[in-house]
Amino acid sequence: MKLPKILNAYCPHCRRHGGHDVSLGRKGKQSSMREGQRKFEQVKKGYKGSPRTPKKDVYKIGKRTVAVLKCRNCGKKHQKVYRARSRKRTEIE
Ligand SMILES: [Zn+2]
Repeated sequence: MKLPKILNAYCPHCRRHGGHDVSLGRKGKQSSMREGQRKFEQVKKGYKGSPRTPKKDVYKIGKRTVAVLKCRNCGKKHQKVYRARSRKRTEIE
């Protein structure tokens, strides 16, 4: 999937359409000291099985494209998630 560098989109902060700079969203680095991770490790220490449901043997193929749009008017960022799943790598032209 190819995305343009500049996109005309609605900005929820200034409540109107305008130019947006497009970049790709990336997952941040996982930290072991975060509250959720600490709780999870505490629960896993005890008896019983895993507190999270085990993974199914049916997996979804492909990922949804998430574009981070930065408003050229107010400079705030918001996300746009494309509905279709695709296996191909997303590029910005
Ligand atoms: Zn804006």
